Amino acid sequence: IPVFILDPTSANPPGGSSRWWLHQSLQHLGESLRAIGSRLVVRQGRAAEVLDELIAETGASHLYWNRLYEPAAIERDRAIKTSLRGRGVRARSFNSALLVEPGTLMTGSGAPYRVYTPFWRACRARAPFGRPQPAPRAIPNPHTWPNGEPLDALDLLPTAPDWSGGLAAAWDPGEASAQARLAEFVEDGLGTYKSRRDRPDIDGTAGLSPHLHFGEIGPRQVWQAVSDRLDSGALAGCESEAEVFLKELAWREFSHHLLYHFPDLPHSPLNRRFASFPWSSDHAAPLRAWQRGKTGYPIVDAGMRQLWQTGWMHNRVRMVVASFLTKHLLVPWQTGAAWFWDTLVDADLASNSASWQWVAGCGADAAPYFRIFNPVLQGEKFDPQGSYVSRWVPELAGLPAHRIHRPWEATAAELADAELDLGADYPMPIIDHRMARQRALDAYGRIKKENNTVRSEFNSPELAL
Ligand code: FAD
Repeated sequence: IPVFILDPTSANPPGGSSRWWLHQSLQHLGESLRAIGSRLVVRQGRAAEVLDELIAETGASHLYWNRLYEPAAIERDRAIKTSLRGRGVRARSFNSALLVEPGTLMTGSGAPYRVYTPFWRACRARAPFGRPQPAPRAIPNPHTWPNGEPLDALDLLPTAPDWSGGLAAAWDPGEASAQARLAEFVEDGLGTYKSRRDRPDIDGTAGLSPHLHFGEIGPRQVWQAVSDRLDSGALAGCESEAEVFLKELAWREFSHHLLYHFPDLPHSPLNRRFASFPWSSDHAAPLRAWQRGKTGYPIVDAGMRQLWQTGWMHNRVRMVVASFLTKHLLVPWQTGAAWFWDTLVDADLASNSASWQWVAGCGADAAPYFRIFNPVLQGEKFDPQGSYVSRWVPELAGLPAHRIHRPWEATAAELADAELDLGADYPMPIIDHRMARQRALDAYGRIKKENNTVRSEFNSPELAL
């Protein structure tokens, strides 16, 4: 009896975009099960209680699931296992979400890895991870099916207003679409991944993150498809491109591994020195400008609008906007992570928390705090023709390419040609880059000074500060 339970008391309830994806994903799963003569029973409530009811109704003797690794899910599932064992119901869980079970990759001294490269080496050494099992062709039916709720009863879709049009235009959730995306990427994108992955103006990445998050495809399937392609010889001379892709996939593993060992990762800086960081206390207006893509920095605004429209943002631009929020605007990284949680279709507690901490400079193997992205130079380097900005910030599309990342330097004639009234159609920068950079460095200097008694740890290469 395939079952899905939506738990309204969950510790990390999905955000708006994730709820939209979840609805579509469940619909597809239900259809796939129906195609092999089975069905998906959907219920709502506390998982332990719903399972108790189902066991009582059906006389089920075994319960199976794939493990989740969020701290609250681990706790919940452990409690369910213990309670079922006491009542003679056999519970078995499996790892399908990750290449390597968290907790099984440790440093030589038995500690959790806090630095990515050695983690990657250890993870790589575990390959191959085994060929994934094929999907079952049939699932034996129970004598009688327990009742379920209609999917609509979960109320996952936005209605008043329905803001999901951009998501629907950009994405096709479900397993079939995930497999198609993987096949297309392995065929056309893998051989140039390293060279193109940093360019938001190019469709150079796999676009698999929401599919992976929702378990519509597994990392072992992805790894295997890449290995098969490498073995086929089709990537001769471009093997390093594929290797970089596998390394990115392993960042997902690293993030889960961090969340497992440091369950406070979503809330507290891994580098505790940042607990006293002097964030700005009055940031409502700049935060709103950032959220709406109206900061006056085109690459930041393009990213934030892409996110709002499609539920996804290119990784390079995620780094730029996160750096801008935490360093230029001094808004706490947790606030940015919360916005991403609500708006991303791939919102993932492990990857989101670890990545925000990484950008903010307080995470594992983090970007040094004092390396502050210049949003203009980032734009010019990674979106050289300005086509990414033109797409998401169309009011700037008429500017010449060399002005598009710095519209405030456009001449009156260029502005007139572009039909752009700067300050009215598009804002002037909400903060001066040089001033913001100095302010961020001063703030960083303060916590560094406060912590000078523990300087050696603070400056340890392991924390990459
Ligand atoms: P590809 O480049 O094709 O990579 C393939 C897969 O590898 C991805 O699908 C993803 O599962 C994994 N991956 C790649 N880069 C990373 C990374 N840096 N960290 C973790 N996994 C990675 N990713 C999420 O899945 N969920 C999040 O909530 C999330 N939040 C982020 C927040 C910030 C501030 C930043 C900087 C990054 C975040 N990422 C997150 C990581 C990354 O941006 C996305 O995984 C990536 O953009 C997804 O696009 P893709 O599938 O085309 O990636």
